[in-house]
Amino acid sequence: MIEDDDHTLAQHGGRPVRSTVFPTNRDATGHRFGHEEREAVLRVLDSGMLNSTVGPETRALEGEFAAMLGVRHAIASSSGTAALHLAVAAVDPEPGGEIITTPLSDGGTLLPILAQNAVPVFADVDPRTGNLDPLSVAALITSRTVAILAVHLFGVPADLATLREVADQHGLYLIEDCAQAYLTETAEGAMAGTVGDLACFSLQQSKHITAGDGGLTVTGDPAFARRAALFADKAWPRDTDERTHLFLGLNYRMTELQAAVARAQLPKLSSIVADRRRTAAELYTAVSDLDGLKPPPFVEGSSYFLLPFYMDPDALASGPDYALALNAEGIPAIPGYLQHPLNDTPVLTARRTYGNSGFPFGSPYAAERRYGLGICPVAERMVTADLLVLAWNENYTDRDVADIARAIRKVHRHFSAAG
Ligand SMILES: *Cc1c(COP(=O)(O)O)cnc(C)c1O
Repeated sequence: MIEDDDHTLAQHGGRPVRSTVFPTNRDATGHRFGHEEREAVLRVLDSGMLNSTVGPETRALEGEFAAMLGVRHAIASSSGTAALHLAVAAVDPEPGGEIITTPLSDGGTLLPILAQNAVPVFADVDPRTGNLDPLSVAALITSRTVAILAVHLFGVPADLATLREVADQHGLYLIEDCAQAYLTETAEGAMAGTVGDLACFSLQQSKHITAGDGGLTVTGDPAFARRAALFADKAWPRDTDERTHLFLGLNYRMTELQAAVARAQLPKLSSIVADRRRTAAELYTAVSDLDGLKPPPFVEGSSYFLLPFYMDPDALASGPDYALALNAEGIPAIPGYLQHPLNDTPVLTARRTYGNSGFPFGSPYAAERRYGLGICPVAERMVTADLLVLAWNENYTDRDVADIARAIRKVHRHFSAAG
């Protein structure tokens, strides 16, 4: 059979829908850096104060970020992972204490738990959102549980209202990982980052706003705030005259160069999120008639770090297969989002933690917990089959969105015909 060139998938030698590149967060095309950031860097350099213990920028960023979110305290650090480490260290679990979290996230969600000698416990996710399923969380709570660490995956709001209820019922702390969720709003209208006891943000290259790397931990609790700030600064109290280390802390300080750039980025955040929302709504509308491809519920509240579709389990092709076909058409999509959910990382399955000890696993401090595939079937199915994840960016134009919609329709038609 001879096929019309326009219908043949680029994967199969057809003409790609799109032959020019999209804006990408890997370079300037996918960011909004301007004279503000340039002046910020020079201001710090010219001041000669590059370290936050002597300069004003990091303390100013903390104040501005806290005010923007409407929380009492923000503590800056060197990365999103560091921001999460500050949160876990502020909660200060005993060795072997358990923190319930999601298998669908960046390693930055998991690794700080282990760094504090606590035990990660993976709850399964809601197949409509990829976020923690509160029922699955509740079923895993034991006397060892200390906290719930929820992620707003792709910027889609987690079910914070229910998670807050579960946490309060059991006397647990709720920590939010908002690395993908600047200005995300929950179904109840709360701002992500304001419901948890602590919440963490990232300023890494790929996030909505960036300083290359960087992190922010927010909290309404002054004791958590002080402990987190001390943890990031070798627990050296600069606000008293004690010249000593009050407890085990590290140096996770943000530099003044990072803080100055982040301060220039901050006022741009609301338009960045608004633009992502506008073009995402355009795309969802443009392909809303296609069977089997669903946007998440409460989609208005998402901040669109990435743009997910949640596919019907009986869809004609898997999300990863769709993504590969879209890549060939010139569309940035991420097969499966993750190759391995966090429950299947060798850090856990091979206990690669501290020397050959495997600590805290197998020690008297920790209860036995099983890792590897099989413990979170919904999440595991999402990465192998049910998730179609597109890269998204504030600098996408209407023409970019139209090309993406055209490519999705082409790929969809092909898989429908094949089915
Ligand atoms: C990016 C990210 C992190 C880690 O942030 P870094 O700044 O890269 O350390 C943690 N959690 C989630 C959900 C992320 O997307």
